[in-house]
Amino acid sequence: MPSRRQATVALSAKEEIVLAALRAEPLPRTAYELIAQLRDKGISAPPTIYRTLNRLTALGHAHRLETLNAYIACRHGHCCERGKPAFAICDDCGHVEEIKQPVVTAGISTWAEETEFSVASVTFELRGKCRACRNNQADGDQRS
Ligand SMILES: [Zn+2]
Ligand SMILES: [Zn+2]
Repeated sequence: MPSRRQATVALSAKEEIVLAALRAEPLPRTAYELIAQLRDKGISAPPTIYRTLNRLTALGHAHRLETLNAYIACRHGHCCERGKPAFAICDDCGHVEEIKQPVVTAGISTWAEETEFSVASVTFELRGKCRACRNNQADGDQRS
């Protein structure tokens, strides 16, 4: 038990288990992959996993990738600042780069304020090829 006062919200046992599973794997996981992995640990019902993932996402410990319908642990440990991160997703190896406080999000926030548009959710996901995959491809091209 930590004795010092903690500013962060305490997680339930199930939330800790799911977060640990997400952190152990650098690639995004779907809810069903998590259930398959965590069945032994008492997490087997889809509503349970979705409730847990929603809370981890709301607290900034994890992020949902809309275009993949999958989840990753926050690359910065815990996103608590306002504004959602953006993501660059490699379609070849599945690597996800988390773009912290992106300029594009700030621009959208300003636009929403000016136009008084009430934003319920924001999704920024770039799909493409990471540097490692691009380099691999370049090597292959040189050889052939
Ligand atoms: Zn994050
Ligand atoms: Zn890649």
